[in-house]
Amino acid sequence: MKESDDRLHDAISFEAQGAEMSSVSDVEQSEEPKHPGWLRLADVLKLPIPGLEDALFFPSFETQTSNIYVMPGTYLTIVDPGNDYTAFMELFPVRAKPEEVRKIVLTHGHFDHAMGALEFLRTYRDALAGGRPELILHEGGPAQIKETAKEYGSSVTEVRGGEILELSGVPWEVIYTPGHTIDGISLYHAPTKTVFSGDMVLQNAVAGPDPKAGGRLDQYLFGLKALLSKDIETVLPGHGPVVSPGGRKVIEETYESVMMKILGVEKPIPWIQGAMALAQKGLLEEAVFCCDKEMARSPEDTKSLELKAVCLNDLGRSREALDVLEKLQLLRSADDSFVHVGKGYALLGLGQYDESIKCFDAALRIRPDLNEALVYKGMALHLAGKHDEAMEIEPFRTEFMGRFKEELLRNRKPNPNKSEAQS
Ligand SMILES: [Zn+2]
Repeated sequence: MKESDDRLHDAISFEAQGAEMSSVSDVEQSEEPKHPGWLRLADVLKLPIPGLEDALFFPSFETQTSNIYVMPGTYLTIVDPGNDYTAFMELFPVRAKPEEVRKIVLTHGHFDHAMGALEFLRTYRDALAGGRPELILHEGGPAQIKETAKEYGSSVTEVRGGEILELSGVPWEVIYTPGHTIDGISLYHAPTKTVFSGDMVLQNAVAGPDPKAGGRLDQYLFGLKALLSKDIETVLPGHGPVVSPGGRKVIEETYESVMMKILGVEKPIPWIQGAMALAQKGLLEEAVFCCDKEMARSPEDTKSLELKAVCLNDLGRSREALDVLEKLQLLRSADDSFVHVGKGYALLGLGQYDESIKCFDAALRIRPDLNEALVYKGMALHLAGKHDEAMEIEPFRTEFMGRFKEELLRNRKPNPNKSEAQS
């Protein structure tokens, strides 16, 4: 396990782009085991989840169908109805009645997750005559699924993220998680730290983006960051085993794999190297993540602290940048122009101009011709209302006038429709 701590590495395999996937455990088994049928979620989870003890789980069997979850309560909610009619034959009417299903949520529109909804509405048309379940999916989900559901008499609710859905009496937050597809959503329940992740997060595998369904690697990062901003212990994925505890770790591993894919790196690389490459690509939050990983190993690694401070300042996270720079200052000599400029910039971001000017002056005492210290000092003076004083600093004046000139030139662009001769 040492390597996994030392390096940014492809913790989990990437599936081919555009391909739907099966869990690694499914792939590795040479003989197909007998399908276990419907399981009580409580029996497969290591942690009990209040409210989900009686939930049912139908594991994905082949690549053609996803995991299916049925939540109990005053009515039933299906999360991802899969694409396997035998699942419903085992469920209805033995363990539940079709008319008890009031809501069906799709984590995304891929057929292996979604087709079961239409199959259910078609097969149990008569039993559902008293009221069809509501179909809930992202607004970017396949139009054909929405139209067909409506034809079967279902109401369709489109979400975009941020909504609270009441599912079988329990409130779940919709998190927009694009990347695998454009219409990906996850469902999050904060009190139990549980998430339905669809194909965004799987154990031991990454589904990869499906370009045909609007999947994109950069959006994958966005979706995963949305999940990482939540406190998550249990991941109920679209394929493969449920993860509990350790949900956050699996999300982080997916995040690392997507970063690797973006960098085009196949072999493990040191965290700091990954951080630098990501920062160069403008992926500053990802660079900060890698710096943190490096510092988890060696908390006094000044290179990581330096890069993290620069990224935080560029992200406008001035307060955090200041904390990092203060730590760096303790580790290095107090006469460090990098630290002084960084602190000055962070204080500028916090609107503390006088303190900021003091930092730039400290840097300039060490390196009197340090251009960025001069420009930022001018900016701090200008913002503090000391315009004349600011204009006395030559590099700031040049920068300021340059930008001003640019602005003026942009406003008097020649009309492209007029020829030189006409004007
Ligand atoms: Zn999918």
